[in-house]
Amino acid sequence: MEIKAIRGFNDILPDEIGKWQFVEETAREVFEGFGFSEIRIPIIERTELFSRGIGEATDIVEKEMYTFIDRSGNSLTLRPEATASMARAYLEHQIYSFDPVAKLYCIGPMFRYERPQKGRYRQFYQIDAEVFGVENPMVDAEVILMLIQFLKKVGLENLELQINSLGCRACRPRYREELKNFLMSKSFQLCEDCQRRLHTNPLRIFDCKVETCQEATANAPQVINFLCAECQGHFDKVKEYLEMAGLEYILNPRMVRGLDYYTRTAFEVVSYSLGSQNAVTGGGRYDNLFQEIGGLDVPGIGFAIGMERLISLLPKDKEFIQHPHLFVAALGEESYKEAYQLINQLHLEGVRAELDYEGKSLKSQMRKADKLKARFVLILGEEELKRGRVVLRNMETKSQEEIPIDNLLKSIKEKIF
Ligand SMILES: [Zn+2]
Ligand SMILES: [Zn+2]
Repeated sequence: MEIKAIRGFNDILPDEIGKWQFVEETAREVFEGFGFSEIRIPIIERTELFSRGIGEATDIVEKEMYTFIDRSGNSLTLRPEATASMARAYLEHQIYSFDPVAKLYCIGPMFRYERPQKGRYRQFYQIDAEVFGVENPMVDAEVILMLIQFLKKVGLENLELQINSLGCRACRPRYREELKNFLMSKSFQLCEDCQRRLHTNPLRIFDCKVETCQEATANAPQVINFLCAECQGHFDKVKEYLEMAGLEYILNPRMVRGLDYYTRTAFEVVSYSLGSQNAVTGGGRYDNLFQEIGGLDVPGIGFAIGMERLISLLPKDKEFIQHPHLFVAALGEESYKEAYQLINQLHLEGVRAELDYEGKSLKSQMRKADKLKARFVLILGEEELKRGRVVLRNMETKSQEEIPIDNLLKSIKEKIF
């Protein structure tokens, strides 16, 4: 029986990969411009890193993690997100010892056992950017600005920035109590999951898709009205810095985030490209995360972008595949040897060049060059070679010319570059 990929796991094939590489390269370029460095973290961590860092009462930890016992009896988990691991690495390697401020990004696969659906996989890819060690609201605005610059640079248009503040350890418990009391009075409207959430994590009821739950939260108290003076001051500054950077935003008081460790600034970017509304990415501040995973009291802020979603929103008319500069068509054994040597030299000079391995007819080699979308075809015919000449065909203009074989490398480079 033929072996197939596991359900929810996906191959990214060569005709798609150009988009992925473009997005990754753009992320590196934009983020490094803001002083971020890449970090690569393990795919697997101890389960408790995520249960403590993400919070027990979350969908991720409750039902979506790929957790298993290894041969030594340790409970390990395939990373469902990157932030907790990045924070762990920051603490473990004492990255703070030289300078408490660390600006890090990470690109790679994450794993969640969710119901597979179109465009949604159990191994999915994220771009994460995080700043550790800064409480200053200027950095909140800067991270958001970097995100928007990146999204615009990959070609997304009609973006809407939504922001909210979730308060802190001092002020959120009071809001949580108030929300819980309010929803208690409407508990008959809540779905079974939300009945439970009411006691474990009432803020998550805002994210429930069930209609009656959404109705129940419609007039619920808003966290923004419960902020302490420090949180209010912080949020006012964030807004001021966003305005200074010329970024428009709208307040979304219903954006409360499911994860326990989020504090203060929360944001989301929605794209209205392609005629529909799509949440592209979200992020926020998480000043409690480090203590949850047993470390110092370090503030953090960051975002995660789902690559699959982002790639589905890229402009449809943009070309992402790198086509060959040159296809070398050879006819006969002597010309093949010539072609082989020429192509080896071309590769050293940075020319994207290919040839056919199967000794096919000129006609079928031309068809292959066409299929590869090569810009030029160099035809090495036995007759022409004897005369010390070759034929260069421009595939766009369909014009061709004979050029001397002496200085061939130089002539080709002149045409191509
Ligand atoms: Zn507060
Ligand atoms: Zn519900």
